[in-house]
Amino acid sequence: MKQNEILLNILPNGNGIHKHNVKINQQEEANHELALIDAIGDEHIATSYDTPLRPDAFLMDDTSKMQEIEKHFEAIMNILGLDLTDDSLKGTPHRVAKMYVQEIFSGLNPKNRPDIKLFENKYQYKEMLVEKNITFYSNCEHHFVPIIGKAHVAYISNGYVIGLSKLNRIVQYYAKRPQVQERLTVQIAEDLKMALQTDDVAVLIDAEHLCVSSRGIKDVNSSTVTASYSGKFQEEATRLEFLKYIGK
Ligand SMILES: [Zn+2]
Repeated sequence: MKQNEILLNILPNGNGIHKHNVKINQQEEANHELALIDAIGDEHIATSYDTPLRPDAFLMDDTSKMQEIEKHFEAIMNILGLDLTDDSLKGTPHRVAKMYVQEIFSGLNPKNRPDIKLFENKYQYKEMLVEKNITFYSNCEHHFVPIIGKAHVAYISNGYVIGLSKLNRIVQYYAKRPQVQERLTVQIAEDLKMALQTDDVAVLIDAEHLCVSSRGIKDVNSSTVTASYSGKFQEEATRLEFLKYIGK
């Protein structure tokens, strides 16, 4: 069975697949298969906390995606009445397309997931490790405007540790998707549990949603807090210790 058939079986609601748009050569096919294998291996497919992705999400290569987005964004600007012959505006569709695919939505593609290596916990450090104030920029999937926040993550080693920068990178990877904050929190927590091979993981996110502060209700003072506590962090004493470290 081909990988994409497996995916279609897992995601039976994979309607609206437009393969006629998709150019596939052998290299892309190989990359695609790898991406799917990663996706399935990471359990990012067919799970309740998964980002709703189409089964054919990575059949199109990044260059083709940028070309398509550029065309469509140009159409949006035209409809808004903007003069795309103006020097300041004419490069905008290209810049937006590049930014979407290579930067702010690059976390959609499993090939961009940080490579996580586990190290033996040689110090025998058995207390919690907290990485706090990880600044991230994401985008609300309902309005495509920024979510700006701080993530605080913690774990208790199960005999293995990962490089501190990897905690940061996991946060950034999941932030670079159209998101809702609850899902972002759970995705980070689940990936950390898998990467660290322990359930003893906590994630707390405090973020400002520009769809709340810059439009709609225009509340500039509110922020949204979400948390995920697993394993030992479900015990009150452990959770309070974590909250004390992050100053909450
Ligand atoms: Zn929104």
